[in-house]
Amino acid sequence: MCTITVNKRMQQSPVIFAESMHSGLFSKSKKIFVLTDENTVRYCLPEIEKQGEVHTIVIPAGEQHKNIETLTKVWQALAAGFADRNSVLVNIGGGVVCDIGGFAAATYMRGISFVQVPTTLLAMADAAHGGKTGIDFLDFKNMLGAFALPESVIVYPAFLKTLPQRELLSGFAEVIKHYIIADASSFHEVWKCKAVIIEEANWKPLLQKAIAIKQSVVARDPYEKGIRKILNFGHTVGHAVETLFLQEKNYLLHGEAVAIGMLMETLMAQELKIIQQAEAERIVEVLIEIFHNRPAIANPAQVLQAMKHDKKNRDAVPLFALPNRIGNCLFNCEVEEAVILNAFKNYNELYAVA
Ligand code: NAD
Repeated sequence: MCTITVNKRMQQSPVIFAESMHSGLFSKSKKIFVLTDENTVRYCLPEIEKQGEVHTIVIPAGEQHKNIETLTKVWQALAAGFADRNSVLVNIGGGVVCDIGGFAAATYMRGISFVQVPTTLLAMADAAHGGKTGIDFLDFKNMLGAFALPESVIVYPAFLKTLPQRELLSGFAEVIKHYIIADASSFHEVWKCKAVIIEEANWKPLLQKAIAIKQSVVARDPYEKGIRKILNFGHTVGHAVETLFLQEKNYLLHGEAVAIGMLMETLMAQELKIIQQAEAERIVEVLIEIFHNRPAIANPAQVLQAMKHDKKNRDAVPLFALPNRIGNCLFNCEVEEAVILNAFKNYNELYAVA
């Protein structure tokens, strides 16, 4: 077991890399509630049951269930099981379970302890860390939520063995995002290997680097007043595109939408001459080599409208985090509508796959 130590001045959750889900990971003095979804109850819960008696709550899997109805069911299950301030909610799942479970714990009885046990690459690298919790509301991503830190985050890369390849790729989008905004040398390793890096991945070192980047950015700005916004690279477009496709048959996974978002936002940075052409081309090259689910955006005006509800906005003007070189990123960038629409046009004509 190893723990990443973080800036002591900042309140942060310890990250525990577990070699096995041995007993003793959770405090025996607390009543343990475990939140899973219909997949992680099957693939991951058996590992946790080694910890002894737990009260299990199962929610349906997928982004379309990250809503107030599911949250209500979690609150109801906690109440029915007599959860109290001495209980802990252990969230075993991807970003959806971690986000809903974190929010349920942050709000139940004005807040009970919770532990994040991420089981997807996306949640291990990103969603389980940093204290953002929440649900989608009124068709907008993460509209309701709270900042709340888990007691700890337990990363057990062996959970990835049962994760479908499409989900693994989706998670890799957030890993690459961390590299583009803050770690040029790791990005260039990915550029050299492209998709092979995923086939042959030794996840622990890749995750350690991605998590360390997130932890250090969050430590500088836990409530996203400034620098933390760089973690939203790809997300202003990505969240709007994800929302738009949510009800479609060919829905997009979160990371797939973020990959499209990073591609388009890089095109914007290039048009605005924020980033040199050669660097922008290298980012685009990696993204199109690795992420193949790139549907055309039939109605850019609708995506633009959805972007106006983004939490990062000022007075409904969408703000972007844009890389100015590989390994560095600017934030609060206002981009004229014409430039945004041009990025959509270029994406549709040059990079979208039918
Ligand atoms: P997800 O939670 O929907 O999980 C993806 C799928 O994989 C689900 O069907 C799940 O049941 C299944 N699954 C999970 N673990 C498995 C395993 N080990 N084996 C087999 N199947 C498994 O999606 P995600 O990609 O993990 O997370 C996306 C969510 O994370 C989005 O809602 C996004 O907004 C959120 N997010 C939050 C933050 C944050 O800081 N809070 C950051 C990034 C993303």
